[in-house]
Amino acid sequence: MQLNILVLPGDGIGTEVTREAVRVLTRVATRYNHTLNLSEGLLGGVAIHKTGQAMPDETARLAQDADATLMGAVGLPEFDNAPPAQRPERGLLGIRAILGVYANLRPVRTYKALIDSSPLKNHLVEGTDMIIVRELTGGIYYGTPRGITGEAPNEHAVNTMAYSRHEIDRIARMAFELASKRRKKVSSVDKSNVLETSQLWRKVVTEVAADYPTVELEHILVDNCAMQLVLNPRRFDVVVTENMFGDILSDEGAVLAGSIGMLPSASIGGKRPSGAWVGLYEPVHGSAPDIAGQNKANPLGAIGSVAAMLEYSFGLMEEAAAVNRAMEAVLNSGRVTADLKPPGAPATTEQVGQSVCEAIG
Ligand code: NAD
Repeated sequence: MQLNILVLPGDGIGTEVTREAVRVLTRVATRYNHTLNLSEGLLGGVAIHKTGQAMPDETARLAQDADATLMGAVGLPEFDNAPPAQRPERGLLGIRAILGVYANLRPVRTYKALIDSSPLKNHLVEGTDMIIVRELTGGIYYGTPRGITGEAPNEHAVNTMAYSRHEIDRIARMAFELASKRRKKVSSVDKSNVLETSQLWRKVVTEVAADYPTVELEHILVDNCAMQLVLNPRRFDVVVTENMFGDILSDEGAVLAGSIGMLPSASIGGKRPSGAWVGLYEPVHGSAPDIAGQNKANPLGAIGSVAAMLEYSFGLMEEAAAVNRAMEAVLNSGRVTADLKPPGAPATTEQVGQSVCEAIG
């Protein structure tokens, strides 16, 4: 298969962790006979320094041409006091808008070697493997009217939660397609006992489910879902929900897995003519200026993002599983970075990348 991938290392540890993620991607391509066409672009603080823009036009062009984009992280301390429009983080909004990504996917997996760093008891969290699919461009964060009116002490504030059938339908289909390649269960989260947007959500998701007869659908109220995530996280396969519920639940899901350096994410939009989803893959963490340039950042969030890319954008399930298995082997070996508190001397970013490659074979 031809894998056309744009790499945007960004700032700080972004450059260090993407270097290792690309090393792993290259190993996978060799091992499984894929042709890797990599291009590299500027994004964030480094792009401002070189071009004056957080997302240069050239980066936008490259992103539109690629099948998938792998991003590190953006943010440099020298821009901390700059106005929002001139900050590196503006590049993130820019690239998401250019790609039209409307879903954020957070895989939540627990690894045996890290089980003790989960806040939950081992027997509850062990074996957890789910994806939280969050609608990213609609709902209360974008609805109008919004704002604060009136003077103290009589101010009044309003936000609007709005969803159209189209917005619900497309994200529901994404969830069902993901589930059909996994354990075939979708948990759709809403608050349909109170909210009209949720009633429409439930109706549309139920209708979409009819097109995926092999996938089981359950509807679950958001308050119950928040509870079930900590009581019995193993029961979930694909969780799909609207923007604000997803914002909250995906952070709750994240803590199940332990360190921030471990967490991958994917933002996904429509499909290319090839059938591949347009995707932007990145670790959840930022540019970590406190450890940048020291070869000690954990690259596993970025490497896990590569696994997500192989699975979601290219449908390469076996390759994705090989990366996940290799990550697990490295975690079990204890040769990991300092943030995971290894028993012996911590490994460097580069050593972890190399170990993952070796484990892939
Ligand atoms: P951060 O995620 O960069 O760092 C938080 C803490 O976690 C730090 O102590 C850091 O050393 C540690 N950490 C993060 N990733 C790690 C890794 N891979 N391995 C080991 N330790 C790791 O968050 P922050 O400090 O709030 O933000 C720093 C900069 O990153 C800011 O400019 C912020 O705007 C930006 N940021 C960017 C993104 C993104 O690009 N998606 C996300 C969050 C923050």
